[in-house]
Amino acid sequence: MTKAHVLGFPRIGAQRELKFAQEKFWRGEIDEAALTKTGADLRRTHWAWQREAGLDFVAAGDFAWYDQMLNTAVLLGAIPPRFGFDAQKLTLKQYFELARGNTAQPALEMTKWFDTNYHYLVPELDVETRFDGGVDWFFYEVDEARSQGHNTKPVLIGPLTFLYLAKSKTPGLDTLSLLPRVLPAYRRVLEKLAARGVEWVQIDEPILALELAQPWLNAFAPVYRELSQAGLKLLLATYFESVADHSTLLSTLPVAGVHLDLVRAPAQLDAFTAQWPADKVLSLGVVDGRNIWANDLRGSLDTLQAAQARLGDKLWVASSSSLLHSPVDLQNETELDREFVSWLAFARQKLTEVATLKRGLVAGAQSISQALTASDAVQASRRSSSRIHQQAVKARVNGLQASDAQRDSAYPVRQQKQQAWLNLPPLPTTTIGSFPQTAEIRAARAAFKRGNLPAEDYRAAMQAEIRLVVEKQEKLGIDVLVHGEPERNDMVEYFGEQLSGFAFTRNGWVQSYGSRCVKPPILFGDVSRPTPMTVEWSQYAQSLTTKPMKGMLTGPVTILQWSFVRNDLPRSDITLQIALAIRDEVVDLEQAGIRVIQIDEPAFREGLPLKKSDWQTYLAWAGQAFRVSASGVEDETQIHTHMCYSEFNDILPAIAALDADVITIETSRSDMELLAGFGEFAYPNEIGPGVYDIHSPRVPPVDEMLRLIRKAAEVVPAERLWVNPDCGLKTRGWPETEAALNTMLEATRRARLELAKNGVLAVDHSPAKVEISHGECGCAH
Ligand code: GLN
Ligand code: ZN
Repeated sequence: MTKAHVLGFPRIGAQRELKFAQEKFWRGEIDEAALTKTGADLRRTHWAWQREAGLDFVAAGDFAWYDQMLNTAVLLGAIPPRFGFDAQKLTLKQYFELARGNTAQPALEMTKWFDTNYHYLVPELDVETRFDGGVDWFFYEVDEARSQGHNTKPVLIGPLTFLYLAKSKTPGLDTLSLLPRVLPAYRRVLEKLAARGVEWVQIDEPILALELAQPWLNAFAPVYRELSQAGLKLLLATYFESVADHSTLLSTLPVAGVHLDLVRAPAQLDAFTAQWPADKVLSLGVVDGRNIWANDLRGSLDTLQAAQARLGDKLWVASSSSLLHSPVDLQNETELDREFVSWLAFARQKLTEVATLKRGLVAGAQSISQALTASDAVQASRRSSSRIHQQAVKARVNGLQASDAQRDSAYPVRQQKQQAWLNLPPLPTTTIGSFPQTAEIRAARAAFKRGNLPAEDYRAAMQAEIRLVVEKQEKLGIDVLVHGEPERNDMVEYFGEQLSGFAFTRNGWVQSYGSRCVKPPILFGDVSRPTPMTVEWSQYAQSLTTKPMKGMLTGPVTILQWSFVRNDLPRSDITLQIALAIRDEVVDLEQAGIRVIQIDEPAFREGLPLKKSDWQTYLAWAGQAFRVSASGVEDETQIHTHMCYSEFNDILPAIAALDADVITIETSRSDMELLAGFGEFAYPNEIGPGVYDIHSPRVPPVDEMLRLIRKAAEVVPAERLWVNPDCGLKTRGWPETEAALNTMLEATRRARLELAKNGVLAVDHSPAKVEISHGECGCAH
């Protein structure tokens, strides 16, 4: 029988109930019973929605108090021994300590879930790790769903994905070698589910969408042969990319069904329908789990009907991935107009889309004719709306010339011209842009937004803050100043609000990690810049000082990457539109006398496609977009860029191709190790490797920063080195900020003296101070 289902549902709640309950629990304001009640209430609601919408299953086990990878570790009993917890008696408080650290132990590491903005906790495994089973929370949730009368499909992260994403703490130990131990643990979990009378279990193996090494691929057949013995029907879910390369493997794997993501990779379908075994389910994800656009129901139905001709009732209808990456409920968006709302579907609305499509498939298109007509109207309105389409913008992108993505002269020429007027000392100092955002700044911004603070007063408040920041920087002796970004709460939202083509939701929150949620803007239309966005602030700041003031912009790739993006144009075209808007701002800044301009691209690396074979294409258009944004200015104008987490040694040629005059990167937490690649590659332009970690309030001593400057000078010639913190300072307080910057300036003074005396910096062999910090910065997306 054809079935309708989703791969998972967001857990945060339509009003972020989970976030608020978690945080209250952490602050000791509510007890465990109150927190667990919030979780149970949310699950009850979400399951009821799935059922009411007409799905055949509800997904259970997709809930997590913090993260699904941590949940899997906790289910298997594989928690790091360094915490000293009893895996089988783990308390909720201890679970949160694994996620957030405690006074004795740093938290588990956190990293991005594939190419989403969700972050999972990285399980730590070693040669001793046992998988003897942990707490039974997963089973409680399955039982809970069943006791509420739902046809329940438990959802698990598969053993191979779990091992692949885990980190080996034993040097040289390949996590795949732990398979013989982890497999019985999974088998036990499945048998417990079978004993409860569960029929279908969804097992997620998204690593199949990566370019997996052969040993991992070889493991699939034996693993699933073993797991299929548990007496359940397994639906093996893939998502986020094509798995067409593995169509033979997947069609012969001893599982009862396979799920494909047809939103990300529609073309893969043919590889599967051509040879699909008659007894196996193929679940087709046609409703986008990761974006907010209403489904083109007629288009989806066409796809499904064509597949149905081959698959019959072995065809299931689904979301492309878990809906975890969508906001929860569109019904709360009361401030968007009706036309705009009609273009959208959040998680709850997607449930109905999936169910509707199944109905159309089973009972014929006429049975959903109303929904199809409405959907056609939505598609037509998006194709023709003058809110979306601006011919002038499209024409400008089409008219781009190669020269638009190139500075007038090559870097060495620019460097001379820039040096001539900037006249900076060796090892020039700067910061990344933001300064501490105090409660007063936030309050003023919020009041202005609500209309409770007149524009004049708001401007005065921001100018006062800029004045303060400039004074402090002058007093510290920083060379290239910033205005501090007090007027921005978010580096994408600030620009999105001023560009055409962006819309904002009230409640379109998506979980980023733990209790942290983000509310990405919706990039729905052609992008242009009606008026200058930052010039007034930067000009005001420059008027307060004779030192160069650095203008501060967010780059096109980062704006794209941190938004919900329209699905009717290639991402490359959209990015070029943004690039042109940023270019206009860069040119206006230059004209206003701002001759050092930073274009932040912290999300440049995270835009990389999952498959390495697609990297070059991405890097080419992303790089072009950055250069388009940066190349409208004279040689004398110095373009900076900034990227956080500098693990981009594998894409250094592309970073160099951005041709920024100066790049500032995060390196202090890795003890400058991340800089080594820049040296080996002989990165040609100037670099500012961060000399202190802004994620923690700790103020390192002078020697520590001096040591990092010296280490940097071993790889990058001192003539091309800058000195700066790792990232923006907006989440820090003033006392530690001033103390740290003071220290940074002192370390720089000492380094300069030494350079003047010896022509080089001494090599410092003292060991690194190891300090793991977990905190937020401007880049916590
Ligand atoms: N200019 C921004 C800031 O200083 C950069 C933040 C970021 O890299 N994400 O906050
Ligand atoms: Zn940063």
